[in-house]
Amino acid sequence: MKFSNLKLSTPYLKLDSAFYTKVEPTPLDKPFVISTSASAAELLGVDEDLNLDDALLAILNGSQKLEGSETFAMCYSGHQFGHFAGRLGDGRAINLGKVNGQNLQLKGAGLTEYSRQGDGRAVLRSSIREYLVSEAMYGLGIETTRALALIGSETDVARERWEKGAIVLRLSPTWVRFGTFEYFTSTGEHTKLKDLAEYVIEESFPHLKGQENAYLKMYAEIVRNTAVTIAKWQSVGFNHGVMNTDNMSIDGRTIDYGPFAFLDDYKKEYICNHTDRDGQYRFSNQPATARWNLERLAVALSPMINYELMDEILDDVFRPTYEKVYNKIMCEKLGLKSEDKEDKTLIYELLISLERATVDYTLFFRKLSRFDEDKSVVLDISIYREFLDSWLDKYMLRLKSETISANERHEEMLKINPKYILKNFILQEAIDKANEDDFTMVNDLLKVALSPYDEHEELGYLCKIVPLEAKNNKLSCSS
Ligand code: AMP
Ligand code: MG
Repeated sequence: MKFSNLKLSTPYLKLDSAFYTKVEPTPLDKPFVISTSASAAELLGVDEDLNLDDALLAILNGSQKLEGSETFAMCYSGHQFGHFAGRLGDGRAINLGKVNGQNLQLKGAGLTEYSRQGDGRAVLRSSIREYLVSEAMYGLGIETTRALALIGSETDVARERWEKGAIVLRLSPTWVRFGTFEYFTSTGEHTKLKDLAEYVIEESFPHLKGQENAYLKMYAEIVRNTAVTIAKWQSVGFNHGVMNTDNMSIDGRTIDYGPFAFLDDYKKEYICNHTDRDGQYRFSNQPATARWNLERLAVALSPMINYELMDEILDDVFRPTYEKVYNKIMCEKLGLKSEDKEDKTLIYELLISLERATVDYTLFFRKLSRFDEDKSVVLDISIYREFLDSWLDKYMLRLKSETISANERHEEMLKINPKYILKNFILQEAIDKANEDDFTMVNDLLKVALSPYDEHEELGYLCKIVPLEAKNNKLSCSS
């Protein structure tokens, strides 16, 4: 199947017109394709080379439509930094329709009814980041929206300075957010809440269709999925940065990448978002924030589901799911197969030791994946060696109760501890090159993003050590 031969449907448009506004994309000037992801295209059943598709660029730029496509922006609201923000909606994302269970969306495709003060555009810098991290999260096994293609242009876009406009074609099984429900609760349109719940069940939780208490069960699944995703974020050291309820997907996957960061040195209280002065969305606070957001969702759903029952589910499901998944992944990262009730403590002590030792989080686990009694392998990458030294003694003792061989353990650990992670420092280098019209690094990063556990010897330059001055920096929200 060729991309330009896809036939789309638009189930969202069957909802009342209060849910969306029809809008045509505004194409960029002199567009050109920068990168495409064959892996994302596969989701649509596209197996023909995207680069040989003559119509690809025009479709990505919104100047040509796929069959069946009707373009629209979705309406939603949300809590931003703890405060209800009123009506938001897709201010720069334009939906094309759905195929193979994936909703296609052009981010940066121009003004919509919901653009407010914005210009409807996305700059190349932030588009490169979103494009690559979408595919990287997938490569890491973390539920996420995907990115099929990235185009650049000559359209000037005003931010702190003039930048060029770009568009990312994003894919997701759903673009409904916690904030979509919040919008219809805030306007008092409670019958529309039900319509939305029916839509979400059909789109994201079809197994619940026709079941007793389907809405309550839907809430339970959202809680569970969200807890799983956040546990995975914490295990790889991912800081989202803007966990507003409008950036929380109703099926729990990661969406709307902005000033995100993967930890360089392990720093529990790291804040990636420069505008997050109080550190509300800091790394360590992500589980608590997700829970708070799930409470907002329960409030939004309360006109049609008993709030106390949702509250009980939140208590019963969120933390236990989060802890179970997080501890399981961390044990796998440590190569521990057998169960030991002391492992939780071992993990806790490791995190404290990592922070004190001042060591790169990703590199530590990759080195540990080849650790066999020679402590220097790990200690040599830490600034304050003594803090990890005694932890390694405990770890070696713990390994004695494992039955698999060291080689087997190494092999397993190398499959869960990535060699490549999209650090901001390396992304910035790719962006700097892209600003000079050299996109090789973007495409190289795509390769390692999709298979981060493989060695990719020839691309080793993409995991070089981050210089001290570039470690754990904050990022501007401007995008
Ligand atoms: P975010 O936190 O980046 O997901 O965005 C919050 C809200 O602002 C959403 O409703 C976006 O659609 C909107 N928005 C962000 N940037 C722009 C822009 N340049 N033009 C129009 N709307 C924007
Ligand atoms: Mg958003």
